[in-house]
Amino acid sequence: MDDLKSILDRIRKPISFASRDDFAHLRSLASLEPFIRVQVGELRRIAPDRREIAEIENLFSGFDGLSPDRKKEHIMRAVAVLETLEHQQASTAASNAAASSRRSTPPASSEPAPSLRLDTLIQYCKGIGPKRAEMLKKIGISTVEDALSYFPWRYEDRGNLKKISRLTYGSYETVSGEVVSAEVVSTKRQRVKIFELLITDGSGMLIGSWFNQPFMQKMFKPGQDVILSGIIKSNPYKSGLPQIDNPDYEIMDENEADNLIHTGRTVPIYRTTAGISVRYLRSMMKSILDSCGPAVRDMLPKEITGKYGLMPVPEAFYEIHFPSQEKDLSLLNRGMSAAHRRLSFEELFALELGLALRKRGIATEKKGIGFKPLNGLETALRKNLAFKLTNAQERVIKEIRRDMTDERPMNRLVQGDVGSGKTVVAMIASLLAVENGYQACIMAPTEILAEQHYKNIVAMARPLGVAVRSLTGSRKKKDKEAALVDIGSGAAQIVIGTHALIEAQVKFKRLGLAVIDEQHRFGVMQRSTLTAKGYEPDVLVMTATPIPRTLALTVYGDLDVSVIDEMPAGRKPIITRLFFESRRREAYQFIESELKKDRQAYVVYPLVEETEKSDLKAATEMAAHLQKDIFPDRKIGLLHGRMKAGEKEAVMASFQSGETKILVSTTVIEVGVDVANATVMVIEHPERFGLAQLHQLRGRVGRGVHQSFCVLMGPRMFAEEARERLNAFSRTNDGFKIAEEDLRLRGPGEFFGTRQSGLPDLRAANIIRDADLLEKAREEAFGLLQQDPQLAGYPQLRELLRAKWQGRLGLISVG
Ligand code: ADP
Ligand code: MG
Repeated sequence: MDDLKSILDRIRKPISFASRDDFAHLRSLASLEPFIRVQVGELRRIAPDRREIAEIENLFSGFDGLSPDRKKEHIMRAVAVLETLEHQQASTAASNAAASSRRSTPPASSEPAPSLRLDTLIQYCKGIGPKRAEMLKKIGISTVEDALSYFPWRYEDRGNLKKISRLTYGSYETVSGEVVSAEVVSTKRQRVKIFELLITDGSGMLIGSWFNQPFMQKMFKPGQDVILSGIIKSNPYKSGLPQIDNPDYEIMDENEADNLIHTGRTVPIYRTTAGISVRYLRSMMKSILDSCGPAVRDMLPKEITGKYGLMPVPEAFYEIHFPSQEKDLSLLNRGMSAAHRRLSFEELFALELGLALRKRGIATEKKGIGFKPLNGLETALRKNLAFKLTNAQERVIKEIRRDMTDERPMNRLVQGDVGSGKTVVAMIASLLAVENGYQACIMAPTEILAEQHYKNIVAMARPLGVAVRSLTGSRKKKDKEAALVDIGSGAAQIVIGTHALIEAQVKFKRLGLAVIDEQHRFGVMQRSTLTAKGYEPDVLVMTATPIPRTLALTVYGDLDVSVIDEMPAGRKPIITRLFFESRRREAYQFIESELKKDRQAYVVYPLVEETEKSDLKAATEMAAHLQKDIFPDRKIGLLHGRMKAGEKEAVMASFQSGETKILVSTTVIEVGVDVANATVMVIEHPERFGLAQLHQLRGRVGRGVHQSFCVLMGPRMFAEEARERLNAFSRTNDGFKIAEEDLRLRGPGEFFGTRQSGLPDLRAANIIRDADLLEKAREEAFGLLQQDPQLAGYPQLRELLRAKWQGRLGLISVG
């Protein structure tokens, strides 16, 4: 059976996920309620009489139907209750472990240890040994600087002291008083001990009660002044005195009266991990801030801090952890207090300065290839094309030609919605390189996409006599070796591949152009690894994810941007329909009607976190079911990420040729697959996808002349919010609008699909929330660099850049 701790962890995960980034994820969490109900059942078995458990249950009963605001309230409250449960659990565990030997105490804040530096390892701080350090590592804290940057994710107002006679039952209150008695009492139940603290403030008496923590008794003695915070309940056993169970507490030593940290003020709440309580973190932060906070240096130039009225950095750190100036709890909770914004600004400034340096380096210091403006191959290609390029394609091609014929290395981003025709643009750019005697390569994010590019590009290149090779991780060893030889000798004029292209053994004879498709899948580092394979080759980045301006500035701040903002003529907007489980038959009939017209369909299953296996099962079973029970006369194919490359190719080829009528797959077809005859995209569990991802999937159809459809198969139970979201999605085909909505809902990290994103790891700032700061920081950074290109007058900034961004951005030497 699971212990209390692991059940609490299980509950906390979705809850903290929902609350992250100012509740940006709230909507994507469906069916929290039944999940919590099961967990509560388990909790009951272990700790039947904890009232907190009942409260959790109450908070989530009917949860899925609550308004977003109510949901937030309930979640905030649930976090506090969980914390109480957990704190109690942690201290029980700690006291058990420490049994008779030395008890580990939180670091005292009274004696500063002034020798701390930002890079001091956390285990050398007072009161933290190697064991605690190990635990702190789990939450990303290894050094003093990490600790200072570990911001509270939430704050609670415990500064509003109430007279005991005026308390409201059922609300969260803070009281101060003198200890009257501190006793451990036993209940009728065996071995259950309750520590009870009786306090008075002259207006009345109140009981603080700790369940099964008799060791607490040692900390309190009559006559002490204490502050307690928690939910007030009436106590049926003690003549109706108000009571707080597991209160947050602070013991006031006379000389520490101004050192309140756990209550009696606006209190920071930190995310914790096993063995580290919030209380412990608070004490640790206080101690670290006191001993080395003032040593944190201001990196920003005085002109800038002055101009924007920014507070000094040491003060900002102090105010973030222990706010004294900001009274507006919601500003603090959203990370938008003056202190938060001070640190966000610095972080964004450093980032923009890095990008500015990089751009300048590329622009002025490096000399790339100036291709001759030849166009024999391009003209030949155009003759063979079945269509006329759109005006937008022509414009972007012109921009690329201008860059490529210039001696400065090109660094251009092409944004174009799915289906806007980016491939042919990349092809024309590649032909210019080839005609000049250079090689071009195109790097795609998935094998399937690379293979498809290969097929399309070979079809265009062969009539022109241009040699194309493909290089992916799962190709046969012999093929790979042959490809490597051709790449090295220059016989391969255009090379298509996955990230296998950036492996060390890949050596180009004369790489002149690197095209990176669907860039949001790659990090910035990979971009520079690839470009290092040529002598300053031109770089073309292509993305189908329209990126709002602020984000583009951050992720692609050093690139020039072209936009293909026009779809090929004759495309019909895709019609999107939301079906429900009860109408699944109808959906099948609809598919059948399209198949009768000789069209084809995709059926896609989502990838659920951590359980790829069960998705696979769902997709596999679905394919079998469709084949056997629904479409016995049609050929149905199955495609998933675990298949060998050869198998995938065979399945794709059969679908491409029209032999396979329905392709059931996991999300491997998300990007770039191009089968013009497919007119139906069925998406199972659409509520589990982000909007941008849905848009990519939908973009797999509507690529030919036929009217195409996207069928969203909603589950039986459906949260109102998910329905709204999907309805909004059904109404528009505009990728830009969808991306903005998605970004708003999920935040940049999720939007880009996590770690690989190449998004800088920002600790204080959030580029969506702090978009205004980003713009200012950018202006200032680029301005400063123009005025002092070597940063000669700003040694501290050079240091900052070296420390933070040099490796990550592949910066050229700073200064
Ligand atoms: P994406 O921008 O999503 O990568 P593709 O380059 O795969 O789009 O193009 C989608 C489809 O549109 C392909 O079948 C391609 O041949 C076709 N296409 C590209 N440009 C045009 C055009 N100007 N007119 C008509 N069809 C085009
Ligand atoms: Mg594409």
